[in-house]
Amino acid sequence: MIIFDKIAELDAFLEEKRKLKVTIGFVPTMGALHAGHLSLINYSKMACGITVCSIFVNPNQFNNQEDLKKYPRTPKEDILMLEKANCDVLFMPEVNGIYPEKVFETYNFGELENILEGKYRPGHFNGVAQVVSRLFTIVKPDKAYFGSKDYQQVLIVKALVQKLNFNIDIISCPILREPDGLAMSSRNVLLSVEERRLASLIPIWMKEAIKILKRNGIAMAKTYISQEISQHASIQLEYFEVCRADNLMPLDEVSNSTKGIALIALYVGKIRLIDNFIVE
Ligand code: AMP
Repeated sequence: MIIFDKIAELDAFLEEKRKLKVTIGFVPTMGALHAGHLSLINYSKMACGITVCSIFVNPNQFNNQEDLKKYPRTPKEDILMLEKANCDVLFMPEVNGIYPEKVFETYNFGELENILEGKYRPGHFNGVAQVVSRLFTIVKPDKAYFGSKDYQQVLIVKALVQKLNFNIDIISCPILREPDGLAMSSRNVLLSVEERRLASLIPIWMKEAIKILKRNGIAMAKTYISQEISQHASIQLEYFEVCRADNLMPLDEVSNSTKGIALIALYVGKIRLIDNFIVE
């Protein structure tokens, strides 16, 4: 694996590949890698001639400075994992490399940026769009791989690609889970043993809520989630919503004609976790 921290050097390397018509696959990450990230690398390797992973903890997408400060950083372990996964290129830019000028564009994604994650993390998606547009301009991939754990982010990135006319296929990949069902996340390592035990209840509650909403409607499912969570003083619910899977607009009821998705965000202690399940 070749590691670059300078944009010009990465660009020169990739330009040679482009001339040879090698398909470039790209997996942007914030590091603290786990098997979920590596699954994206694998999807890219299966479809592309060369796979580029980036590790960059993007300060602009953190609306909470405390969250940014405690975000896990494990570069040595990340490099070993990527080498083992046969990733071809790792790009680890400095903040000054990505944001040389302190000029930040503002995007308008309409309602999509104001709901769910956008509502609870103001400015988050604007920060995501700023870094993704820069990384896409630098790497110029043919395909970019994102996890559907960050479901709303995938829709935002697809909208960004349309807005800025990038010729890049955005590929949404399934959520990888721990054996007990908890969605893999870089933040899971920040949980205490007791918090980790509580976090394993999230997928159990979600599956039960989906059964309830199919039988008794969405309002009952919401009541069920609030009641379960209220029994644990260290868990704070931010949202549990059931939305259209194609545009995340809230659903009043599920129907056979519209694919739905149930999404949750909550704090376990001080750690914010998100998850989602498609409503079949
Ligand atoms: P992050 O490092 O958290 O910014 O994540 C980088 C990419 O990995 C994003 O596209 C995430 O959606 C994806 N990702 C994170 N967790 C998982 C997971 N459990 N399964 C699949 N993809 C994931």
